[in-house]
Formats: sequence, structure tokens, C-alpha cells
Amino acid sequence: MMTPQEILEALEAENAQSLFVHARLVRDSVFGKEVFQRGVVEFSNNCRKNCHYCGLRCSNANLERFALTKDEILSAVNMAVECGLGTVVLQSGEDADLDPRFIGDTIECIKELTDIPVTLCLGDHDRDIYKYWRACGADRYLLKMETFDRELHARFRPGQSVAGRLSRLEMLCNLGYETGSGLITGLPGMTPEILAHDLYRLSELPLGMIAVGPFIPHPDTSLGRSRSGCVEESLRATALLRIMNQGVNIPATSALDALLPNGREQGLEAGANVVMPSVTPESVRYEYSIYPGKNSSAGTVPESVSNLQQRLKAAGYQPSSARGGSPDRAAKFKDI
Ligand code: SF4
Repeated sequence: MMTPQEILEALEAENAQSLFVHARLVRDSVFGKEVFQRGVVEFSNNCRKNCHYCGLRCSNANLERFALTKDEILSAVNMAVECGLGTVVLQSGEDADLDPRFIGDTIECIKELTDIPVTLCLGDHDRDIYKYWRACGADRYLLKMETFDRELHARFRPGQSVAGRLSRLEMLCNLGYETGSGLITGLPGMTPEILAHDLYRLSELPLGMIAVGPFIPHPDTSLGRSRSGCVEESLRATALLRIMNQGVNIPATSALDALLPNGREQGLEAGANVVMPSVTPESVRYEYSIYPGKNSSAGTVPESVSNLQQRLKAAGYQPSSARGGSPDRAAKFKDI
């Protein structure tokens, strides 16, 4: 494990090529050129929260809100399976009207249709609800920290705290979920020192998946006039996560693709081993607007997934339909 000072030096080094080479060697030693594919079903953009960096925030009145029915979700899951994706992720904002039984029933129906792992990315809920969804068959849960810096976290995620988020991650791990988390790089006010500390803290946790992507300002938020995060910094952060977390799944994030035409390929070249294409129906895909450029690929779901798979092959990678679990991290959840 690198120290925060060593991480900072790598973030600020003049040349990052040796860092990327090192990250690729580590990734290849565990995963080779196989790239796990997760199909993301963004089934509702309703959210009760008001995070300043996010286009789904409740105070954004310019967004057309939607929520898919169970049948529409199942149809999207079916599409993911037909496209050869090895996992599905059910993702939404924190819908104040969400009935936990709707999610529970949907998970059970997916498990009757197919045995692929189901990941949930539904934000903060009580332990009883997480436990119920796990009993219904959910395998994995993604809950991003965004930053461990208390001041930035409180500023950009009103009413939420680092400690609260960490306690939920611990809860999820203890309930047996393969748990994932992640960071945003380049938030306004985020210094390299803060990012180095964030990467260190994230790497201490017993997670199966970790993600990092650059901040992209959404015009309908209070940060709409801020500058985007630096892509190079985000790629360095990806490489450092790979070096410190050998067997953990790391996606080449869609935020990279929103800033660069070959952003996902660059993420893979920095040591990532996962892609997460949207399989949300075209009729609502553009309304899942966390940041501009998300879900911007044209065409039907099979066309956009096929296009991504062609890109991966052209870059020398093998799109995989495997379940793509992370080798078990035996570490206990650290004191928080
Ligand atoms: S980041 Fe998540 S919780 Fe915050 S406003 Fe966006 S969807 Fe809601």
C-alpha cells in the first residue's frame, strides 16, 4: 500500500507513462485483456436529494422525470443478456416514493429469468431494506463516497456526511453484498492532497469494485459554471487505484467517454478492467442526465453496446460475458 505522500507524488509527477505501464502490468497479471461488461438499467431519475454536482438533484426543474415499470426494467435486463453482458446494475436516484417491495419483486423476477448477478445502486437506505433486497437475491451494491473530505462532502452533498456513508458501506459489506464505491476527481476546491487522501482511504476499504471519474459540470446545477475535472488526473487516479487494489474491479467510467471520444479506452490503458454501458431504453436514456454527455451514444441499445464492444476489440481487449466477481478481499472493515 502506498502512503498518501507517495500517491500525491505520483499524481503530481511530470510524466505518468511509467505509472500507466505499471498499472497495466498489475491489471494484466490478474485479469489479462478480459473486460467485464455490466449493463446499467437507469430505471428512475427521481431524487429526493440535492447534490450540487448532479443533474438529477431535486431542485433541477428543467429535467423531465421518469420511472420505468417492472416490465420495462425486465425487458432492459433481457436486452443486456442478449447483448452478452454478464451483470446488470439497477440504478436510480433516491426516489422518495420508492417502494422497497418494487425492487424486491423486480430482483426476484430477474433471478427467475436469468442467473446473472444483480447489482443495486440506489443510494442511502435503512439496514432492514438492504437486508430485504439481499434476501430477494441482490448480489452487489454500489454506494459512492465521492470524497472522504468532510468539508467538501458536506458542501456538495447537503445533509449528508462521510461518517454516514461509511457506516452504510460497512452495513452492506456485513450483509454479504459484494460492495463497491468510488470518487469524483476535480470537484471545485479539491486539491491534489485531498485526492491523494481520498485514494488512500478508498483503498483501505474491503471493496469488490472501485471507480473514479472526473467531475463534469451540469448546466442546470449550482456548479454549472465550474471547470471540468482534469482527465489526466482522473486517469492517474485510476492507475493508482489499480496498483493499490490488484484484484478489485475498476471500471473505465462513462464520464471519461463524455470528455474524450476514446475515454473508455484510455481508462483501460490506465489499468481499468470493466465497462458499464447503459441498457436504459432509448426513450428515456437522455433524461438520466447526471452530467452532460452521459448516455450520449446514438442508436438503439444493441447498436450502442455493439459499438462499444467493437471499440474494445479494436483497442486489443476482449469483451467478456463472465459474471466478473472480484477475488474475495479478506480484510475486515477498518475502524472508521
Ligand atoms: S448524486 Fe445521487 S443522491 Fe445526489 S442528487 Fe444525484 S442521484 Fe440524487
